[in-house]
Amino acid sequence: MALESYFHLSNSNDTGNQLLTLPRETSIIPSASTRQVLEIANALAAICVSKPRSEVFAVAIHLDSNSLVIFVAENHDIPETTKKYLENVLSILEEISREAFIPNREQSPEIQEAVVESFQERLGMTILRQTFEKFLASFVQRDRTWYARVAEIKEQLKGNAELAASFDDIIEALDIVHDNALAYYNDTKNESLLDLYTALTIFDDMIRTNKDKDIITRMLAIVDPGDSNRSAMEVEEDDVDVNEDNTQRNGFSMTRFIYRVLSIVIHIRRLLRLAISTTSSQFFFRKRYFYYCKSVERSIIVDPQEILKKNSFPNLKAVCNKKTTSSPLHAELVVFETLLRFVLENRVQPYWVIGVSKLMCVGCHTVIAKAYPKVLQNHRTNLAPFTVQGCHGKMYRSWIAPDLSFTNSSLGFDLDSEVRTKTEDFIRSALIDYIEQRRLSESSVGTGINRQQRLDNYEKGTSQETSRNPDGHVIPFF
Ligand SMILES: [Zn+2]
Repeated sequence: MALESYFHLSNSNDTGNQLLTLPRETSIIPSASTRQVLEIANALAAICVSKPRSEVFAVAIHLDSNSLVIFVAENHDIPETTKKYLENVLSILEEISREAFIPNREQSPEIQEAVVESFQERLGMTILRQTFEKFLASFVQRDRTWYARVAEIKEQLKGNAELAASFDDIIEALDIVHDNALAYYNDTKNESLLDLYTALTIFDDMIRTNKDKDIITRMLAIVDPGDSNRSAMEVEEDDVDVNEDNTQRNGFSMTRFIYRVLSIVIHIRRLLRLAISTTSSQFFFRKRYFYYCKSVERSIIVDPQEILKKNSFPNLKAVCNKKTTSSPLHAELVVFETLLRFVLENRVQPYWVIGVSKLMCVGCHTVIAKAYPKVLQNHRTNLAPFTVQGCHGKMYRSWIAPDLSFTNSSLGFDLDSEVRTKTEDFIRSALIDYIEQRRLSESSVGTGINRQQRLDNYEKGTSQETSRNPDGHVIPFF
């Protein structure tokens, strides 16, 4: 039975694009240094994305005293121009790092004092040029929905002059960014790009660092209850688009919109801060190696009808009969397979972190962050769990599972089938929860059977850990 069959179940009679959407999850990050490596890996992945939708990059890092290896994968093969661009960004970061380096400096300096403006601009413009099309897509919401939402918030804040003024400032700053983006779109001149980068950094200062930050945070918490304090990574994903079903579910979130516009600057600043940090300033001094993973396309057989025969999933239906299908392995799984291979061949001890340009889908997240660490608990190996950012909750029909059978000869146990089985368990359990929750939200009638009983029936207690990511594996950084 193919694990992928689960991804061909639907809760809708329309077998078109209605996908199952499970809850989002953000991983628990075991330590501050792991968080730092993860943020860098996420940033390096995010700054590679140039197309608005179809590109997803995954990045892993290996570091020793002399060398820095960056593993990069995309769902498809990586264009030569993107490789050159990434190598260029890393060499600019090295230059910035060398310029800012002062031996024995005790505290990391501020970006403004350590990096001359022309350097910041060179980095910012290089990255913004590459990611511009993706960036511009953040503004697709400037239509009737956008203006309606702005008017609605103004109405909502009417009674509070301070918060209303703070909202007006944000809208003004967003207008300037928007106009500069359109100007660069129209003339593609360097000066326009610099204006846009400057407008973005001013906006970023306003939202994230300046003295009115607390007022802005308070104001956003009122207009988007439950949506504040999002990280750039959590909003850097497709479901922010107005034309998706997300809109009906959660409404237009101003917080998500703002962070989506800012995400590229947030990533740029993370890289700059790493370049000038006193504890890690030599990060970019090392000899750099880039390992570009080849994309992987695999053919699989899916048989969702068979899944339904064996499991009781009321209200879910199979969207196809048994069929053979061929799909690319998602970028994070390509990096996952590559790193396992390198570790088992004793070629690297990587940071056990996989950065992705957006949150992971249900399949990849279940394999990497849940099933694989769970399987490792039962065996002694030199493999460790990976830390990742989290999961956006969507199941994609084109998803295929990794093939880890190459590990069997060196590991002495069947990692591949154990991970598959565990992944199936987690997904089955998540689907049962999903169906139950939908049922509860549709009717207020009692369930007759509680969650724990259901889990016992289906899962034998493995589900408590579902939202937990790798153990307390602490990474010594730099
Ligand atoms: Zn995926």
